[in-house]
Amino acid sequence: MAKRLIFLGPPGAGKGTQAEIISENHQIPHISTGDILRAAVVQQTPLGKQAKDYMNRGELVPDVLILNLIQDRLGYEDAVNGWILDGFPRNVNQAAFLEELLAKLEQNADCVLNLEVPDEVLVSRLLARKRKDDNESTIRRRLEVYHQDTVPVIDFYQQRSTLKTIDGDRPPEEVTEQLCSAIV
Ligand code: AMP
Repeated sequence: MAKRLIFLGPPGAGKGTQAEIISENHQIPHISTGDILRAAVVQQTPLGKQAKDYMNRGELVPDVLILNLIQDRLGYEDAVNGWILDGFPRNVNQAAFLEELLAKLEQNADCVLNLEVPDEVLVSRLLARKRKDDNESTIRRRLEVYHQDTVPVIDFYQQRSTLKTIDGDRPPEEVTEQLCSAIV
């Protein structure tokens, strides 16, 4: 059974919700860089203070902050036997870093799952969510950043490993079913 999973997809695609379910089913940690950063902002840690303005603008936080964070997190004891990455990698540089890090750890991503949802559906979903960075201009910026920086990550994995694309514009239970049959 696949235990090291990477979830790709635009903001609002349902990665977090689905990752939570699969994480429980497979008993592996759900590692969301967005959740880690939001907790750091609330706790006003040095990381949180540096990340906050980027997040509020809908920009990516600089790689230098994220790469240390992910390296530390994958070293935790609960990550030895598997994980779900949600919100990382977000650009090709992060994907290349992860590839090297996993090689050092003698690990491999088993499956890269790409949740696809059309932009107009994402905007209405995100507007309904009411998170602090979910106002209309930030949402539009996050989608631009997604197309510019994160879509190339799909090609990165298409060339290297098993990338599976799932239709995320379906009821959540159906998306979970599709994901479960894709993770073999
Ligand atoms: P998310 O919850 O994944 O939508 O992330 C919320 C915000 O956190 C993003 O808009 C970025 O500002 C920041 N963020 C989360 N993950 C990353 C990442 N891997 N690289 C850079 N910034 C990130």
